[in-house]
Amino acid sequence: MARKMLNDGEMNKPSEEEEHYDFDLFVVGAGSGGVRAARFSAQYGAKVAICELPFHPISSEVSGGVGGTCVIRGCVPKKILVYGANFGPELEDARNYGWEVNERPNFNWKTLLHKKTEEIVRLNGIYKRLLSNVKLFEGEGRVIGPNEVEVIQLDGTKISYSAKNILIATGSRAQRIAIPGQELTITSDEALSLEDLPRRVVILGGGYIAVEFASIWRGMGAKVDLCFRKELPLRGFDDEMRAVVARNLEGRGINMHPCTTLTELAKTEDGIRARTDHGEDLLADVVLFATGRTPNSKRLNLEAVGVELDKTGAVKVDEFSRTNIPSIWAIGDVTNRMNLTPVALMEGTFFAKTVFAGEPTKPDYTHIPCAVFCIPPLSVVGLSEEEAIEKANGDIAVYTSSFNPMRNTISGRQEKSVMKLVVDKETDKVIGASMCGPDAPEIMQGIAVALKCGATKTQFDSTVGIHPSAAEEFVTMRSVTRVVPPASKPKTNL
Ligand code: NDP
Repeated sequence: MARKMLNDGEMNKPSEEEEHYDFDLFVVGAGSGGVRAARFSAQYGAKVAICELPFHPISSEVSGGVGGTCVIRGCVPKKILVYGANFGPELEDARNYGWEVNERPNFNWKTLLHKKTEEIVRLNGIYKRLLSNVKLFEGEGRVIGPNEVEVIQLDGTKISYSAKNILIATGSRAQRIAIPGQELTITSDEALSLEDLPRRVVILGGGYIAVEFASIWRGMGAKVDLCFRKELPLRGFDDEMRAVVARNLEGRGINMHPCTTLTELAKTEDGIRARTDHGEDLLADVVLFATGRTPNSKRLNLEAVGVELDKTGAVKVDEFSRTNIPSIWAIGDVTNRMNLTPVALMEGTFFAKTVFAGEPTKPDYTHIPCAVFCIPPLSVVGLSEEEAIEKANGDIAVYTSSFNPMRNTISGRQEKSVMKLVVDKETDKVIGASMCGPDAPEIMQGIAVALKCGATKTQFDSTVGIHPSAAEEFVTMRSVTRVVPPASKPKTNL
């Protein structure tokens, strides 16, 4: 039994009551967050169990897999497809570099799909091995009491286990909007495992998944129509950078349909007809709904045991990831805080530290960088210009750089890279950074460290660049593009 638990304060010896729990911790859901929490808790000495549905690339109520959305049907397979899609335009760019691609190169979707599936099966195995010091149950987990989890196995057998602590880490699921013909659509789950590469695609949504899949399919040669209901995609990101992404997607041949949604879908002899709210008919082999994800909490029986959910179904937790029931905790997308894999990993790590290492630790949500893997990618950390104006006490200085990446000077590709720094004029601190261009996520990770350390613009300027690189632009933006006064409303500390 684990010896140090926050629940018990100064506990050194297990009480009799604790001795009779089957486990110190039962984790429901073996995605990134759940696996991290289980492993680390076991390393701190806890007796840990975890349950997860059997592996399948497409999730359902009876399938899932150790590794979860990120590894099996999210970040990892998506990035593999992004790499695959990049080769198409790269081959075009190679011509002016002297590569004579004489015949039209063929892209074989099935080869890539097979390789992708092999890789996620391999990763599923690695994740299972990571759980060597944790008892893994295959089946659906349900919480049937503050200290009791029931595992429903594939054959329907139900076995219940008692646990001193229960951790909900069941992630989220893609949601479809309800319009006539919605059953003809796919979500990102299916999009990552299609039998054939679609020739024509209609995508509804303007978020991460929509722009990433638009880039993937376009890069592979498909005709892509992207419908989103705002003027620009990627609501919530810096407006100027959203416009850059929109311009780049269009430049790469994606048909952009701003301020547009779909009203109905119908099967035709030649695929699917998607009708827009402007009365336009778009024809497709595949219609992808990328209209957000909802917390995966429905089948967990949480409300019956008194766990509070919000109106989206997200499990409500405090700053330590604890629910209103002291023995039940939750991390990751099911809590709908910041739905990113590295954030779930942080929450899982700090949960284990808090509960089993006697070191109560709150996740720190400041300066979390993120990336949208459209082609070329967008990556950001800190505040957008709009957020900075909203939150600042004083003037905001904005530095921008829009330049032709050196590679494009020879390839002839007409696509600018754009970088931006947002600076609090009073403190000189850099409070936001963004970049849209090749390698943006690789560059932004380092910038995130600088922001986390509270770097000032003067310190950026005194850093010597790496030449020739795009990254050096971040330390050579000398002249201010504009100074913006703060919004006139109550201020918070930046
Ligand atoms: P997002 O929340 O990013 O975007 C949802 C999109 O769907 C928005 O453009 C939204 O429009 C639109 N939408 C919602 N409802 C409707 C509707 N009824 N009609 C028309 N459009 C609608 O969700 P995604 O599905 O793209 O991704 C889910 C989450 O997964 C992301 O939030 C992110 O946390 C994570 N993710 C992260 C990735 C990464 O880190 N690279 C990659 C992929 C996913 P509007 O803006 O107008 O509301």
